[in-house]
Amino acid sequence: VDLRQSWKRVLLKLSGEVFGGGEVGVDPDVVQTIARQIAEVARSGVQLALVVGGGNFFRGEELSHHGMDRARADYMGILGTVMNCLALQDFLEKQGVETRVQTAITMGQVAEPYIPRKAMRHLEKGRIVIFGAGAGMPYFTTDTVAAQRALEIGADVVLKATKVDGVYDSDPAKNPDAKRYEELSFGEALSKGLGVADAAAISLCMDNDLPMVVFDLLTEGNIGRVIAGEKIGTLLTN
Ligand code: UDP
Repeated sequence: VDLRQSWKRVLLKLSGEVFGGGEVGVDPDVVQTIARQIAEVARSGVQLALVVGGGNFFRGEELSHHGMDRARADYMGILGTVMNCLALQDFLEKQGVETRVQTAITMGQVAEPYIPRKAMRHLEKGRIVIFGAGAGMPYFTTDTVAAQRALEIGADVVLKATKVDGVYDSDPAKNPDAKRYEELSFGEALSKGLGVADAAAISLCMDNDLPMVVFDLLTEGNIGRVIAGEKIGTLLTN
């Protein structure tokens, strides 16, 4: 079977870094452009759950190198993801799609708590579910959460949308001869230490046979392309 054609429920992970347009904070134009593409896909009937990162606000590890307690800094990172969720929710609703934000840390005034069965119900009703606050636990990343949420809600694939257009055999920013993989196994990604996602996320996908596509979020239309099964980015499988 062609794996790329069989996705009915997808978990789309959006890097927070892209939301800031290279700066700290949220760039409304960027978020609006992303929302427009996501809304288009949602209208085509694909069930969409989103996990949003927070690297445009804080990364706990970085702050800890500047003297902050790691766990507290991670909680700041976690809160950053929620701000991105709210920005995305707003622009999605302006596009006329129904959304729900669910957070791993309860904050009843701004979002629902994370309740997987309720999330699945929302998806069945055609609502986009946006998962915020990561796992709610320091020392985790939103990549790992994306794999976990995908497994728990029964998604067919994790689509990791980021600022690079796939997985390379070396850093394309440093090596002009770097080669992009069209397909790659999780085992190879781990053993070669390729910068795909963190090892915990890859392990979860590998152990549970959950495919992942890494692709570039900055090219307009890419979200629709990857979901339609076009061969962009890198497809990771076992
Ligand atoms: N974070 C965390 N636990 C989680 C998810 C996120 O501690 O379950 C913190 C961590 O400090 C991380 C930051 O939130 O660096 C932002 O998330 P991430 O780096 O995954 O965002 P992205 O790289 O996608 O922008």
